[in-house]
Amino acid sequence: MTVVGAGLVGSLLATVLAKLGFEVDLFERRVDMRKEAISAGRSINLAMSVRGLYALEKLGVHEQIMTKAIAMPGRIIHPISGPTVFQRYGKDDSECIYSISRGELNKMLMTYAESTEKVKIHFQEKLIKADLDKKTLSFQNDKTQKEITTPFVRVFGTDGSASVLRHTLRDDFGHEESESLLSHGYKELNMACGPHGSFKMEKHGLHIWPRGSYMLIALPNYEGSFTCTLFLSNQGSLSFETLNSQEKIEAFFREQFPDVVPLIPDFVEQFITHPTGQMVTVKAYPWHHSDDVVLLGDAAHAIVPFFGQGMNCGFEDVAVLWNMILKAAPDLKKISWGPLFEEFSKSRKPNGDAIADLAVNNFVEMRDKVADKPFLMAKEVEKILEKEFPGEYMSRYRLVSFSRIPYRIALEAGKLEDEILSELCSGIKEACEVDLVKAKRLIQIDLIPLLRRAFQEA
Ligand SMILES: Cc1cc2nc3c(=O)[nH]c(=O)nc-3n(C[C@H](O)[C@H](O)[C@H](O)COP(=O)(O)OP(=O)(O)OC[C@H]3O[C@@H](n4cnc5c(N)ncnc54)[C@H](O)[C@@H]3O)c2cc1C
Repeated sequence: MTVVGAGLVGSLLATVLAKLGFEVDLFERRVDMRKEAISAGRSINLAMSVRGLYALEKLGVHEQIMTKAIAMPGRIIHPISGPTVFQRYGKDDSECIYSISRGELNKMLMTYAESTEKVKIHFQEKLIKADLDKKTLSFQNDKTQKEITTPFVRVFGTDGSASVLRHTLRDDFGHEESESLLSHGYKELNMACGPHGSFKMEKHGLHIWPRGSYMLIALPNYEGSFTCTLFLSNQGSLSFETLNSQEKIEAFFREQFPDVVPLIPDFVEQFITHPTGQMVTVKAYPWHHSDDVVLLGDAAHAIVPFFGQGMNCGFEDVAVLWNMILKAAPDLKKISWGPLFEEFSKSRKPNGDAIADLAVNNFVEMRDKVADKPFLMAKEVEKILEKEFPGEYMSRYRLVSFSRIPYRIALEAGKLEDEILSELCSGIKEACEVDLVKAKRLIQIDLIPLLRRAFQEA
């Protein structure tokens, strides 16, 4: 088996294939990050939730990984002035998302892959061409610039959002592909830890400074620092383009994020020197070609990061494919890979599309609505419904982050919930005034049957 891309998804997949008994060649264009440091300002930490954890648990590696994770039971909202507000994600502390270092996780997954003794990772080998008719892959070595062409039997494309393998499917076989760039970019700033490795803010929470058309967020890192990410328009009157001098950057932060300024003394320097990242939504179909190649992770469905689900969705891809392989044949030599890849691609695609849409919608919620009064009342009503109708009403956020029902159902359920909440909130001033008899009637019409079907499916 050949896997291209030793990022989070490729390293996990290679380990799974090895556990199934296959020999795996894993090609990665970058250097071995366990030996060389990764550059600052590039997506330092990620939120991991149930779907990602499920794959790690299935592999039996989650306990060790979780020793490096920090629980985040809710959002901590920072207004421009006044005290912070905690908004819980789930029903209690048992429903948390977890902040984990992307680099540390990737390193651990590579080490797990190698420890199977069936995975050989070839670093600094960049895939430059795939010829699916001749069944060859061409790689260029980053150090020597030497090109090699090697035959393959079966290739798994986990080469990220700009996947060469996806482009090959598009160019050589006319597969659908769309790439839409978000008008906002992002910049990461590091809030170093305080004295003796202390956290400068509450460590158990995802901090958000919602400011309408832009926002700052911060996730805790295991060793006491926070990674802060500013999401801001690339162009326009207030944008990365116009924040182009020390004075403007300083004035912007002092005005909009006054509590952050003393916590990151070198924020101006970091802002100027760190790269501005771009975010893309990729939709493609099919994700496979015959029994030769299949795409997983960002290569198949890159999404914007506002639901914290890109990696989680990629890990879920691996778990789903793994279950399909196990179901297909106890004798691995007899697997019909073409139909298996087709079933994988067909069943996962609607879920990839759904989480892509959910992620874009959550951007509006995070940057704009979390400080908005009608939105906050609707959230309070939602909490009451979750308490009064346990297992029957589950918020969209809980369905995505704390359950494994298909994303497409979470999207559908979320739309029904918006309608229910809007009807229940009209005419009331306080959440406690909500009409629970009406609520029960409304959720019984479509929501309960939809969720029942979904849980049976999952
Ligand atoms: C700012 C930001 C915040 C995010 N936050 C979250 C979050 O909180 N939770 C979450 O679940 N997700 C989050 N994500 C998304 C998450 O980072 C991705 O979904 C995840 O990294 C996808 O993993 P992957 O292995 O599919 O792709 P990648 O991580 O992109 O890995 C692809 C690998 O392939 C290699 N590669 C690429 N091209 C080639 C080639 N031609 N030849 C050989 N190798 C190649 C790359 O070097 C890389 O190692 C975030 C993303 C961003 C940008």
